[in-house]
Amino acid sequence: MAYINENFIKIPPTYLFSEIAKRVEQHKAENPSAKIIRMGIGDVTLPLPDASVDAMIKAAEEQRHVETFRGYGPEQGYEFLRQAIVENDFRARGIKLDVDEVFVSDGAKSDTGNIGDIFGVDNRVAITDPSYPVYVDTNAMAGRAGEPNEFNEWDKLTYLPCNENNNFVPQLPTEKVDMIYLCYPNNPTGTTLSKQQLRTWVEYAKANRSIILFDAAYEAFITEENVPHSIYEIEGAKEVAIEFRSFSKTAGFTGTRCGYTVVPKELVGYTHQGEAVALNKLWLRRQSTKFNGTSYIVQRGAEATFTPEGRKQVKQLIEYYLENARIIREGVSKVGLKVFGGVNAPYVWVKAPENMGSWEYFDYLLKQKNIVTTPGAGFGRSGEGYIRFSAFGSRENTMEAMERIKR
Ligand SMILES: *Cc1c(COP(=O)(O)O)cnc(C)c1O
Repeated sequence: MAYINENFIKIPPTYLFSEIAKRVEQHKAENPSAKIIRMGIGDVTLPLPDASVDAMIKAAEEQRHVETFRGYGPEQGYEFLRQAIVENDFRARGIKLDVDEVFVSDGAKSDTGNIGDIFGVDNRVAITDPSYPVYVDTNAMAGRAGEPNEFNEWDKLTYLPCNENNNFVPQLPTEKVDMIYLCYPNNPTGTTLSKQQLRTWVEYAKANRSIILFDAAYEAFITEENVPHSIYEIEGAKEVAIEFRSFSKTAGFTGTRCGYTVVPKELVGYTHQGEAVALNKLWLRRQSTKFNGTSYIVQRGAEATFTPEGRKQVKQLIEYYLENARIIREGVSKVGLKVFGGVNAPYVWVKAPENMGSWEYFDYLLKQKNIVTTPGAGFGRSGEGYIRFSAFGSRENTMEAMERIKR
């Protein structure tokens, strides 16, 4: 008899997006002529930068000839891409990394999910609330989360509420935690931490020998000065933090798939006997055992985002979405709602009016305005009473949606 990992049956079904789809379908059935605008998506809509497409066509063509054909590549990624990452994403910001501290992958979802493999099941895990669901669910699968209650909160996770009362800045936990997930700029709230605020967490992690899992998937959207692009801008962070990056939101690679993870060589975890072990070695072992590398073609496409042309094209994509975010912020503020995020992120987090719940306001916008958003409650209990607008739609739809909200 084959036993299952029973942690899987404790995890509630992914209710959020299926419930949204169900409500949208029902609304469409009742109002066949309704022109629905979707602002709930967390996916990009603009095509890939030309520089990346050209590089991938060239790389595909290489596969036709025996002299240039590539089979299995290095599991950690090709040197050309890792070198470009080290130079452009880090050295240009004054951060020195070695190529073997960078692990290229098929995206940040896999990495933020898989990283748990190298950590013990008895670690206490802290997660900001609301959050990207991957952090919670993968810890639940590993048996690190304990049992869920009626609000789908897990008894062994430490939730760090982020809301208006603390200006979306998570407070240090009162109990000792070992692993801390931080995502900045944040999905879903679109808010950021200043260097000083992030430094508080680096100092906490140092004092407690904890590890910070820093998800910087939205780094490219940062427009303000004092917002760190990388956690390694904070002194000492290389001793306590793993950083996740992705080409998905930056360069439109959501379907093409490429991301990377930085595991500095200074970073250590401990055995129960108190022996320090380098996490870089463990992650290398994990990746080379369970992962066979991102496709060569895709890595060439990612590399091309760092060329002068590529950079210019990526910048245009980001500016397009940020302008949408500005339009949303302005439109929603004008009708008197409280608005957060959207300045350094493609998400605008809106407080529902008149103490409405997330789903209540979601239904109102769907039925009265034909606008689909994402209810904040779907990202955790602290998201209740908020909704998320995505800036990843077209300019035309974004403007039309704001017109409808004003009416
Ligand atoms: C979109 C997103 C990612 C990136 O996922 P990929 O697998 O690289 O496409 C990672 N973290 C957060 C918070 C995200 O919203």
